[in-house]
Amino acid sequence: MTEIGTPLSTVAKRALLCGSGELGKEVAIELQRYGVEVIACDRYENAPAMQVAHRSHVFSMLDGEALRAVIEQEKPDHIIPEVEAIATPTLVQLEKEGYHVTPTASAALLTMNREGIRRLAAETLGLPTSKYVFADNYEDFRKGVETVGIPCVVKPVMSSSGHGQSVVKTEADIEKAWHISQEGGRAGAGRVIVEGFVNFDYEITLLTVRHSAGTTMLQPVGHHQVDGDYRESWQPQAMSPKAIEKAHDIAKKITDALGGYGIFGVEMFIKGDEVIFSEVSPRPHDTGMVTMISQDLSEFALHARALLGLPIPSVRFFGPSASKAIVVEGDTDKVVFGNLDKVLEEEGVQIRLFGKPEVHGHRRFGVILATDETVEKALAKAERAYNKLEVKIL
Ligand code: AMP
Repeated sequence: MTEIGTPLSTVAKRALLCGSGELGKEVAIELQRYGVEVIACDRYENAPAMQVAHRSHVFSMLDGEALRAVIEQEKPDHIIPEVEAIATPTLVQLEKEGYHVTPTASAALLTMNREGIRRLAAETLGLPTSKYVFADNYEDFRKGVETVGIPCVVKPVMSSSGHGQSVVKTEADIEKAWHISQEGGRAGAGRVIVEGFVNFDYEITLLTVRHSAGTTMLQPVGHHQVDGDYRESWQPQAMSPKAIEKAHDIAKKITDALGGYGIFGVEMFIKGDEVIFSEVSPRPHDTGMVTMISQDLSEFALHARALLGLPIPSVRFFGPSASKAIVVEGDTDKVVFGNLDKVLEEEGVQIRLFGKPEVHGHRRFGVILATDETVEKALAKAERAYNKLEVKIL
């Protein structure tokens, strides 16, 4: 039975976030609503979740010793990974010592590396995936491209959001793809996955929440990616009954295999009635930000409720909705958003500004949310609002 005590006292229920970006910020807010004491961690100061947490610690999530030291100091009831790049072997060890990792330490470990999750999905669970080969050096990589065939997608096994990812469309792209992968991975040069290019009709994130009363799947989220990074998402994505059935089956199998309580973003490619598993995040998904306007309980509220061990008897879906990422480009620690009265002049529009302290290159700083009678109208409304937004780089 879940009990929640008074924050900042000896009976507090404490949650520690590993990663404090915009998704962690929303999880922190939802935990605060339950009176949970929230500790936010990230490698830089004033990260979004730190701005709404009780306190924070600054260190690299990949530094296992620092992670252990902070956890031993804070003794959280829940350790909540918000990013992929964490010293996951430390989490596995801490779990053995009695700490609770959301959803499980092995889920964080397996999904940190594309190889772990791909082998679990394709080889252990027999889920449909694109053809794939792993390679550690250029020679094996060339052979891998031959085995998988052109076109194919090349990604560092330790990467996300399109970093180090490229598509080999012709022979001439092979060498370039290898160099891109060696420069863009999280851990620098290293192992890559060569995946068959899936010529999908559309791609979805099936948000799936495992909680004390069972597993609940949300309306499928459709999304557009630019260079492997999400720019727009919408809910519900229309799907054939056969495709939705297959997607549910895949999501159930992969989330059961990972276990624990919390929300998962199961990414899949759909072609006709065929559904191909791509990857899964055992945590809120960026494309799922649309649920902040489309549902009574957002993916963040669901994550908080599930990880606290509480049941989710139902989720109310309000209707067609869209989200549009606000990506800022520049080199500054002063960004000002203007013309907001115009951005918000239409009914059914909301904006979230994450409060990120700086940008060097391009970075997601906020999101526009919209609802309407249809997904197309919601997307168009989000676009109209976005076009009115003024971004001043000072
Ligand atoms: P990922 O980081 O694996 O989620 O990839 C980012 C995005 O790249 C996906 O959402 C797809 O739009 C695209 N992508 C990744 N893998 C493939 C693939 N095998 N075939 C076609 N598109 C892909």
